[in-house]
Amino acid sequence: MDKQIFKDRLKIKSFKSLDKKSKIKLAILLVAFILAFIGALFAFGALGIIKTSPKTDLSNLSASFDQTSTIYNEHGDLLENVEAKEYRTIVSLDQIPDSLVKAIVSIEDQRFYKHPGIDLKSIMGSFITNLKAGRIVRGGSTLTQQLVKNVYLTNDRDFDRKIKEAYLALRVESHLNKNEILEAYLNRINLGQGAYGVQAAAWTYFSKDVSELSLAESALLAGIAKSPAEYPPIKRYSQKDLKGNEEILASGDISGENMYFVKNEKAFERQKIVLNKMLQLGVISKKDYEVAIKENTAEHLKPGLKKFHTMSSYSSDYIAKGAIEIISNFYKVSPDEAQHKFFTGGFKIFTSIDERMQEDTESLFKNFYKLLSQGSLNYTLDNSGNIIDKNGDVIYFNRWGFFDQDFNLKLAGKNFEKTPSGDLLLTSGIFTKGSDNLDLVDIWEEIDDRLNTYSVGSLRVPKDQVEIGLNYINIKSSFLKDKKDFYKEENGSITISKKYFQIDEKPSPQPQGAGLIIENETGLVRAIVGGLDVKSSSKMILNRALSQRSPGSSLKPLSVMAPLLKKDTLASIQDDIPIIVDGEILYKNPYPGYKGLLTLRRALEYNSNTAFVKFFEKLGMNESLNFLKELGYDYVDHQKDNYKNDETADSLALGNMVKGLSLEELTRGYLAIARDGAYIEPSCILKIEDSSGSVIYEHKKKEREILDKKIAFLLKSALSTNASRGFSKGVKLRNYATAGCLGVNKFNSTIFYEGFTPYYTLGIYVGADSPKIGLTNYEEGSIDLFREMSKIAHRNLPAVKEFQVPQGIIQKYICEKSGMLGTTICEEVEDGILEYFIAGTEPTQYCKGHIKLEICKDSDRLFGLDCPKKSKEEKIFFRREPEYIPSKYKGILPDDYQYVPELYCNVHGGDK
Ligand SMILES: [Zn+2]
Ligand SMILES: [Zn+2]
Repeated sequence: MDKQIFKDRLKIKSFKSLDKKSKIKLAILLVAFILAFIGALFAFGALGIIKTSPKTDLSNLSASFDQTSTIYNEHGDLLENVEAKEYRTIVSLDQIPDSLVKAIVSIEDQRFYKHPGIDLKSIMGSFITNLKAGRIVRGGSTLTQQLVKNVYLTNDRDFDRKIKEAYLALRVESHLNKNEILEAYLNRINLGQGAYGVQAAAWTYFSKDVSELSLAESALLAGIAKSPAEYPPIKRYSQKDLKGNEEILASGDISGENMYFVKNEKAFERQKIVLNKMLQLGVISKKDYEVAIKENTAEHLKPGLKKFHTMSSYSSDYIAKGAIEIISNFYKVSPDEAQHKFFTGGFKIFTSIDERMQEDTESLFKNFYKLLSQGSLNYTLDNSGNIIDKNGDVIYFNRWGFFDQDFNLKLAGKNFEKTPSGDLLLTSGIFTKGSDNLDLVDIWEEIDDRLNTYSVGSLRVPKDQVEIGLNYINIKSSFLKDKKDFYKEENGSITISKKYFQIDEKPSPQPQGAGLIIENETGLVRAIVGGLDVKSSSKMILNRALSQRSPGSSLKPLSVMAPLLKKDTLASIQDDIPIIVDGEILYKNPYPGYKGLLTLRRALEYNSNTAFVKFFEKLGMNESLNFLKELGYDYVDHQKDNYKNDETADSLALGNMVKGLSLEELTRGYLAIARDGAYIEPSCILKIEDSSGSVIYEHKKKEREILDKKIAFLLKSALSTNASRGFSKGVKLRNYATAGCLGVNKFNSTIFYEGFTPYYTLGIYVGADSPKIGLTNYEEGSIDLFREMSKIAHRNLPAVKEFQVPQGIIQKYICEKSGMLGTTICEEVEDGILEYFIAGTEPTQYCKGHIKLEICKDSDRLFGLDCPKKSKEEKIFFRREPEYIPSKYKGILPDDYQYVPELYCNVHGGDK
């Protein structure tokens, strides 16, 4: 019978409505299926599927998900043992309440104590369910199967995996007893929101020990197992993902983004199903059931801010991120689960990070302030010593205004009030203004004459114990009675214990910096630094090489020049003159005034914003975006966010993007140019082996041409003159051709320097962690920092003084004012240069703009018939097409402006 027809028919008829004959037919089919399945186990075993099952040390199963991963260098030397303390939430079976064990066994695998690892009855059940649904809706996996899948297998839904899973489950059951299996399972089970194991879940959702869970709470957790994505009682959202009708339980700052914990109703529906099943199976009494079903479990939810594990250094943080992505792809698991696997799965990770280069770069950043000594930060203090922005909103509170020596929060009398009912009313603005949460604003203090900041997280008070008003926060007496150590009162002020909010007590000096070195040939990252405090002791490291900031002018070569050069040349001209819209001058240049006519090459060297806006308009928005998409850039899209998006000249032509790009993203754009237009995804992972020694990943060079080699050369050439004589000059090393571009955003709060040599592509970032704090005079120092980093990368490498000129590139002598072929007149006023062209795109006409006129010195007009010979002078002018009329530009004259006389001398007769 045709399979598809068979399926379709079953979809129309439900199982119940089938006549007796059909039911018998179906039963025969089922038996046949099961026999086939068992047969397949052996057949496929013979065919080798089972042989390809992972090597497993079953006697050590419970330890197999609790192994330290290790990081090695290219040569196999150990670099780091991945510290995974925070992930060790292993509990023994006797610490897990009976109610939780029963709940999970009842709902996930009711015949657990009876079956040998696979449950034929359940497989049959799921076969019927799947047939009825016409698709796979039920897996029928036993706890043992789920366990081996979690520990050993990928998340594929194919038949191979099913066979391996069944085979391994049978083997596990022959090695371990039911309690050992259960203990391993309960410590490994994914219960959503990054909680692995029942202990982690108890802390994640209830902020308490697993042994303290009630029956109702146990049922709630057991319900998650079916789908950790669908059934967690709490979900985490960022502000933009909130719809507005959710019940927010708490919020907190996670990796720099404010996250909201929202109650998930589906979990509570599932909890009822679990309790019903338990009652039905007789594992709980009717009385226990009644109590549990009435219990308001939602009220007990107390989301603990999940501790985010980070690595001990920026390079290992980057390695971890890369490894987790690979693990997530290989096992087809969520990033959360992959992270868990990384920290506990005993992987061996081989990295491309070059220890010497990494250490030297780290030392360079330690001496950061010496190099950048000329710079100063630009911020405003209010009367209380808080740092405020231009709207008067506080960016950083003065540490000594609100915190004592030990970082307990101290509030003066004016900032709190005790109500007659015993509530505590906090009126201080130290909580983030206008938002529905208890986030505290970060604080600052001066250490060694330098601005230092501390990040402060949210106040740990359960949602139902606090009322948030417009100008106050009311902490309820019931909470205060329960938590006697929450605050103490002294001399008219109160001190709130730091136990009740998050604070990172390690100061971060400002500004901060980041650096990246990538090898051109392979695309492998050799060094990465994400901040000055290289070895972080704090709970969280902010890897500034990976956080996004607006890139400023360093975006121009990628967003404008690269796509423009597909049709245009480096000799293409735009006029750097005021852009006036509705009587207002838009787009300021980084220098005073306007340069006038500029070739594309010169516009880059001067960093002319107005010329780039015009080049961008000539190019067109879509061409620019299409190229940025090739680089995998994340820009704010018009469809998604109509109000603030990056589809503007300010964002794309000038790099003042809404969210911006990370140093890593920006550097990979330059890497593509350095690699002659062949894009490659930078990576620092060479190889990953799982705990049994099987290779799950091996780095292969995958490249994709996004630019013609000849266009890449034109960019290299323009970026080289920019790095040697333009606004980005000062980075070149004597022995190596160097291309580069400095980028400062319009708020002067972010500096990027991106560049490359024939060997390496490098990038640096300098900026205060708050984008509202400006930088003054950091450009020179940033250029020095780039050059010093380049020295580290190039130590002992043979000199390569020029970028190779590819076939099909020619040079022509051109006029830099007209962009046409240069004449002797152009040469006389030094407006002629040799420029590179892709053969066939060079100009063919000579410059007509430059003209030589005879002038009468006495009138500065054209030399007339009556003018004396001694007053005659030959002068060269450039005639703009169309003519520049200063009155149309508020009387502003570009630097190259010349009035071209058209009338004859009026001193010696002639025109009057
Ligand atoms: Zn000319
Ligand atoms: Zn005259």
